[in-house]
Amino acid sequence: MTDTEIKSWLLEVVHPAKGSQNIVQLGMVEAISVDGNRVTVTLAFPKRRDPLTEYLVGATRATIIRNAPKGTEVEVKTIVKDETPKKKPGLDLGMEEINNVRHIIGIASGKGGVGKSTVAVNLAVALARLGYKVGLADADVYGPSVPLMTGTENEVPAAEQTGEDKEVILPVEKYGVKWMSIGYFAEPGQALIWRGPMACNALKQMILQVRWGVLDFLLIDMPPGTGDIHISLVNDIPMEGALIVTTPQDVALSDVEKGVNMFRNENINRKIFGLVENMAWFTPEELPENKYYIFGKDGGRKMAEKFGIPLLGQIPIVQSIRESGDSGEPAALSTRPDALAFIDLARSLAQAAERE
Ligand code: ADP
Repeated sequence: MTDTEIKSWLLEVVHPAKGSQNIVQLGMVEAISVDGNRVTVTLAFPKRRDPLTEYLVGATRATIIRNAPKGTEVEVKTIVKDETPKKKPGLDLGMEEINNVRHIIGIASGKGGVGKSTVAVNLAVALARLGYKVGLADADVYGPSVPLMTGTENEVPAAEQTGEDKEVILPVEKYGVKWMSIGYFAEPGQALIWRGPMACNALKQMILQVRWGVLDFLLIDMPPGTGDIHISLVNDIPMEGALIVTTPQDVALSDVEKGVNMFRNENINRKIFGLVENMAWFTPEELPENKYYIFGKDGGRKMAEKFGIPLLGQIPIVQSIRESGDSGEPAALSTRPDALAFIDLARSLAQAAERE
C-alpha cells in the first residue's frame, strides 16, 4: 500500500455539495501516511462547520477499508485551513436552526425490524395531513431508510452559505414534510462505516445544521437499540420526549423495557409520550374488517400498562403498508383503513404534545 495508491482510491470520494468533484481534485487531501498496516489520512476543510465534514470523514474511511488489505487500520483526521489554531476542536453547533420548532420527538425502538421507520415516515405524513408543519430527521445511521420510503433517494440537498464560515443544509420537501437523512449523502449501495463519536457528530449535523424553519413537530427517527449513541443524541438535541415502537409479542417486552428505562434514566429524563403497537393484527387487503391476531392479542396494551405509559396507537399488518414503503409513497397518504390508523396515531400524539 503506497500513498499514491491510497490517493487513487480517494478519487471515489465525491463532495456532494461540489458537483461531481472528488476530495483529491478539491485539494482536501492534506496528508497520507502509511505505517505498517496503519493508514492515516488528513482532510483539510476550508471552513469550520462544513455540514458534510462527518459524511466525508466516513466516506473516506469506508473507501480505504474497501480497497485496502484486510486488517488495515484507518484513521481520518481533519484540519481547518486558514483558521487560527486557538479555536477549540470538535463541532460547535448552535441551536438557532431548531429555535422555531415547537416539539422535537424521538421515535425509538428497543430493536430493529419492528417498523420504527415505517411508523416515523407515516406519522410525519399523517401529521402534515392534519395541518401541522412537520419535519423528519432520519438519524438511523446504520440503515437510513427515509429516502427510499419517501421516493426521494435521488435528491441531493442543497447547502446555503449563511455566514463567512457557516453553511446550512436545506431539507428535501415532499408530501408536505421536510425530510433529512444521512442517506442523501451516500452513494447508493455504499455502506458507511461509522464509529461511535463520528456517528454522533454526523447525526448532530443532520439535525442542527438543517434549515428547518418554523415547525410544529420535528420527528427524529432514532437508531434502533439503546446505546451510548442514543444517550448522546438525546443529551445534545433538546428532545422533548419519545414514542416507543414495538410489536405485540411477549419477547418484545424486554426491548420495550430497555427503551423505557433509557428515557427514564436520571441522566436523560425525557417524557415518554407513549407506545405504538405495530403489526398489532393482520388484515387481508380484500377483507378490511377482519383482524387476525397472529402475534397474540393485547400485547401492546399489557406492555403499556406495565410501564405506566399510554398506548398511543395500533397499526395493523397490511400488505399495502410494506408495498407503499417500498414504492416511496407512504401508506398514510391514502384513504384506506391502514392510513386511518396513522391519522389516529398522529391525532393522539398531537393531543398528548399540545397538552403539555
Ligand atoms: P425498523 O425501522 O424498525 O427497522 P422498518 O420500518 O424498516 O423497521 O420495517 C421493516 C419492514 O417491515 C419493512 O419492509 C416494512 O415495510 C415492513 N413493515 C413495517 N410495518 C409494517 C406494517 N404495519 N405492515 C406491513 N409491513 C410493515
